[in-house]
Amino acid sequence: MQRRDFLHLSGLATLGTFASGCGLQKTNEVPEKKDANLKTQRKRAEKKRVVIVGGGFGGMNTATSIKQNDPENRIEVVLIEKNTHYFTCPMSNTLLSGSKQFQKDDFLFYYWDVQKKYDIEVLHAEVIAIDRESQSVETLRENIEYDYLVLAPGIEYDYKTEFSHWDEAKIRRASLEAPGGLISDGGVEHANLLAQLEEFKDAGGEGEIVIIPQRTKIYKNLQESVEYKSLVRCAPASYERACMIGDWIKRNGLEGKAKVVLLDSASAPQAKAPAFLQTFSDLYKDVIEYVGGFDLIDVDFDTKEILFRDMDDDLEYFIAKRKYSVLNLIPLQKASSLIEMAGLKTNSWGGALLAKQKLYSMSDNRVYVIGDSAVFEKGYYKDKPKKRGGVPAAAQTAYNLGKEAGYMIAQRILEGKDLPLGKFAAGCFSMVQVDPSKLGISINKKFSYNKKGEMLISEEVEQVNKKYYHTIAGEGIVDWFGGVTGDTFAKF
Ligand SMILES: Cc1cc2nc3c(=O)[nH]c(=O)nc-3n(C[C@H](O)[C@H](O)[C@H](O)COP(=O)(O)OP(=O)(O)OC[C@H]3O[C@@H](n4cnc5c(N)ncnc54)[C@H](O)[C@@H]3O)c2cc1C
Repeated sequence: MQRRDFLHLSGLATLGTFASGCGLQKTNEVPEKKDANLKTQRKRAEKKRVVIVGGGFGGMNTATSIKQNDPENRIEVVLIEKNTHYFTCPMSNTLLSGSKQFQKDDFLFYYWDVQKKYDIEVLHAEVIAIDRESQSVETLRENIEYDYLVLAPGIEYDYKTEFSHWDEAKIRRASLEAPGGLISDGGVEHANLLAQLEEFKDAGGEGEIVIIPQRTKIYKNLQESVEYKSLVRCAPASYERACMIGDWIKRNGLEGKAKVVLLDSASAPQAKAPAFLQTFSDLYKDVIEYVGGFDLIDVDFDTKEILFRDMDDDLEYFIAKRKYSVLNLIPLQKASSLIEMAGLKTNSWGGALLAKQKLYSMSDNRVYVIGDSAVFEKGYYKDKPKKRGGVPAAAQTAYNLGKEAGYMIAQRILEGKDLPLGKFAAGCFSMVQVDPSKLGISINKKFSYNKKGEMLISEEVEQVNKKYYHTIAGEGIVDWFGGVTGDTFAKF
């Protein structure tokens, strides 16, 4: 793959086919009235209104694509986002490398440019209820009626399923002292992790920095652990993070004193396994230790100990403990609770089930779901027909499908056409070394549909000279990131 292919994959190469954005114009004139609590009620009006919840990759690209495909500005778009700025998770692990090339500000984006370039209203408020019957969304500031609703609210952590015996105080402690680092909220979790690494270094830098990837089974009792399939936002993220902290250890001269330990419930990395195992052994031999089949029971945040189930020589289970210095506990994940709140049909982790070959919910064709909260019917791998797979929860997916959704919604409103989903791509890139050269791993997935409406998947893992990690991917990730964020937040 060439560097320019990253931009093709991101869909940037097709941008010229969309109509250009329109300047700021007066929005839909709607009768407004206040209720007894002085909350504004925005009624539906003649101009069709699309309300989008979530200003991440999914929501933003749906919003801008509607406008790009509505040259006469006949559709009103209101995007509701609870934060005033967005911290991008892709590439955010590079912050933990401690390299001066990657600073927190590089990952922060604001909504001003999009509002300037397109006639999109961005309302900073938290959505607290959705009423599909009255087609209305409730925020703390006002209630807004919609003709079409797009839900792109991302994910939430699910500590309760994983640690049913933890109370709220312990969950708060886990999020502060062992943050998952998977949610974008202003970059707080990443800042906490980096601060802990710095404290660890100042205290001598001796010990284990433990990463526990999202687990694939839940401890029940000493005799059994049960399989559990949760939503996984960017499955390679924990292994990429191990590499970035490995890079940090080397940069700070802590080899031999500090190491990264991955305690994984699976028997091999849960994404790009051959690629990460090759990377660990080639680039981080004594710096990253991979432990598979790890059965986590609990964490004692006072003594900094991890409790887990182990087996002795007589094949008897027993409870063991392992000390840590810094802990990144990646909890189970679930779809945003807004999906359940909207009363849509969901799967086991609360993701919205989509109608066949569509981007709207099975339960309501006026409600589109984009990004990590959406669930597609499983597809077949072209080269392995018995293997089935889904669409990855990734920014690249949210970006590309946001663009598709915007086009489909505009076509539906302006032309009365309810188009099916065609081909789309989703890539997944991981940075594994920052200095002296940028090395990365890339996987490209392509999705299409056959005549029966079944999804077909093809997957390609890039290798150069039999190595899964290479500078083409390393440099390509940086280009890709600049391209998708620049386009999403109207930077060019
Ligand atoms: C460490 C890490 C590395 C990653 N690397 C990659 C990568 O290399 N490539 C890749 O393709 N993907 C990567 N991802 C995955 C990617 O970040 C997500 O898949 C992507 O952000 C999903 O987009 P989204 O729009 O669905 O959700 P989000 O980006 O989470 O956006 C959801 C938005 O909705 C808002 N929101 C939520 N609830 C409400 C509410 N009630 N009211 C108002 N607003 C609300 C949130 O504030 C947020 O801004 C990575 C993720 C992590 C954690």
